[in-house]
Amino acid sequence: MRVLKFGGTSVGTPEAIKSLLGILLDYHRRGVRFAAVFSAFSKVTDTLIETATRAGKGDGTYLSILEKLRTRHADAVEQLLEPANRPPVEAALTENFDALANVLQGIFLLHEVSPRSLDFVVSFGERNAALIVAHAMRQAGIPADYLDARTIIRTDAQFGNAKVDFEQTNRLVQAHFGGNPAAQAVTGFIGSTDNGLTTTLGRGGSDYTAAILGAALEAEAIEIWTDVDGVLTADPRRVKKAFTLPTMTYREAMEMSHFGAKVIYPPTIQPAMAKGIPLLIRNTFNPEFPGTYVGTAPPSPPKGGESHFFPLGGLEGLP
Ligand code: ASP
Ligand code: MG
Repeated sequence: MRVLKFGGTSVGTPEAIKSLLGILLDYHRRGVRFAAVFSAFSKVTDTLIETATRAGKGDGTYLSILEKLRTRHADAVEQLLEPANRPPVEAALTENFDALANVLQGIFLLHEVSPRSLDFVVSFGERNAALIVAHAMRQAGIPADYLDARTIIRTDAQFGNAKVDFEQTNRLVQAHFGGNPAAQAVTGFIGSTDNGLTTTLGRGGSDYTAAILGAALEAEAIEIWTDVDGVLTADPRRVKKAFTLPTMTYREAMEMSHFGAKVIYPPTIQPAMAKGIPLLIRNTFNPEFPGTYVGTAPPSPPKGGESHFFPLGGLEGLP
């Protein structure tokens, strides 16, 4: 089992989604069992927060933003799916956008956005994205199920940055995957409380979702598919000679995130490290490139050749 996570840009356009389908199809053809975790389409979480903020101020312009979001998702369905495959997705999207419109209207009427209602509002970003991609996976010939992570990730009620109850979550994840052999297309970022309230794991939390699943399932690897070639030695816009680190340790990845380098969402490293599961940072738009391997020690060098791994400990040039 491998757990793959695709971030906002990797699902940001129908073209990007086609690239990730190619990656998944390749795994499927090679007989690799995997689960894929999806972020909301790029910028959708920010946009959802904006609709709720406007509605909370009694500003009716939230409605036009909501309509643009609806259109963006409907367009993605049209560009990705054959007409015969659209109806179930369109029905589910209509239901989601109606529920979202209702909660935003409530916020608008009350002039109040609570962290609890905000988590519910933003949850639609991941739910719509994973739903659409799940159907695109099936159309591509990959047996796939849409999986709403609220059914498997249990958290406390700290809305906006909920803490995971690993005992319950691990049990739910193992039970679900034990009974469902198809590739699961999972919503990142979201979970739920014991009482069924929607929570989120912090901004950038889809990486963490992948690590939670990977650790619970003792995956072979957790692959974070993004829009850069891996972990870079520096910001390429500021340092000309910035290059991808082929390998680094969990500790180094943690230290980097302390220095503010945007590698992966920091809580992601812990569950992977606890189980010794490698984290691979890969580029959806350059899938041949190996990216960065994060683990306890570098993987064994290729036989007969020189090690191509960057010497560990050399993290100079970090922002
Ligand atoms: N969509 C969420 C965010 O923008 C989670 C994620 O992308 O990881 O923070
Ligand atoms: Mg991210």
